Amino acid sequence: MINNFKKIFSSSKPIVIAGPCSAETEKQVLATAHKLKKHSNLIFRAGIWKPRTRPNSFEGIGVEGLDWLKKVTDETGLKTTVEVAKAKHVELAIKHDVDMLWIGARTTGNPFAIQEIADALENTDITVLIKNPINPELNLWIGAIERLQDAGVYNIAAIHRGFFAYKNSKYRNIPQWQLALDLKRKFPDLPMICDPSHISGNSNLIMEIAQKAMDMSYDGLMIETHIDPKNALSDKEQQITPLELDEILNNLIVRNFDIDDKEFKATLKQLRIQIDDLDIELLDVLKRRMQLVEKIGHHKKENKVTILQNNRWIEMLKIRTKYGKENGLSEHFIQQLLKAIHQESIDKQNKVMNN
Ligand code: PEP
Ligand code: MN
Repeated sequence: MINNFKKIFSSSKPIVIAGPCSAETEKQVLATAHKLKKHSNLIFRAGIWKPRTRPNSFEGIGVEGLDWLKKVTDETGLKTTVEVAKAKHVELAIKHDVDMLWIGARTTGNPFAIQEIADALENTDITVLIKNPINPELNLWIGAIERLQDAGVYNIAAIHRGFFAYKNSKYRNIPQWQLALDLKRKFPDLPMICDPSHISGNSNLIMEIAQKAMDMSYDGLMIETHIDPKNALSDKEQQITPLELDEILNNLIVRNFDIDDKEFKATLKQLRIQIDDLDIELLDVLKRRMQLVEKIGHHKKENKVTILQNNRWIEMLKIRTKYGKENGLSEHFIQQLLKAIHQESIDKQNKVMNN
């Protein structure tokens, strides 16, 4: 069976799924949709059942919002998509002529819910977009796709929305591009959409992530767009206005993927993007290490202990060098690196002790 998703739009432009995190009022939904309708390759999104991590926040307008989505199509001609998390949602969304369904990150991680959705989708030919699960477990993402395929759903695309970051990071959800690439390796024909909104959690970072996705040949973008982001009832920090979306789409460089002479460059770019991510991870780890060093500094100060404890340093250097060498790093490199880190740690502790 052929996946029809990419055929929906004939243009070579990326598919853009835009609209508010949540449908809040009929007025907000329609006003947003009217501002977005000029984009020929756009699907309108709005969540009406919102899976909130903690209770007592806005949990969506519910089924009433499906009538608003119908109005969106009637008034603007835009296709629509909505998040579904259980069989009842699927049934209601299809009944209200929603064009596509998406499965949220919290649901992809739950095989019971996915199976229930797959069963409800049997014998329908609706397109389903599957977000990556919250935790970086590729098999959960693969499993969700397989469960839908087993139910005869073939119009599937994946949405890469990043993975949970317990510690502070530049991003709300760490992209871990490698996982999306691994999924793509498993399903080479699967269209891949990037969701810079949920990756970044920050409206200022949407452009750079969207561009990265384009440079990695993603098929489309899902970008949360709200008529008045500051007053949004959910995800207000990451939503952008329709005007800001216009600007991003105008500035986005969509490169042609020309296999003949550009394959080499495309691969290089993908690898560099992974390196960029790893470097940020490295810096985040170093930051956390220095925070611990400062804690130790305070502890030593209170107990009147010297900064440099030579035995520990010699032992550390030995163990780390051995570990590094076992993992293919040269002795010279490991020692240079460790010495630089150690020096910085001593300087930090010095400050703590003598301030
Ligand atoms: C959403 O798209 O509004 C949403 C809830 O996303 P996620 O499932 O990626 O958290
Ligand atoms: Mn959201």
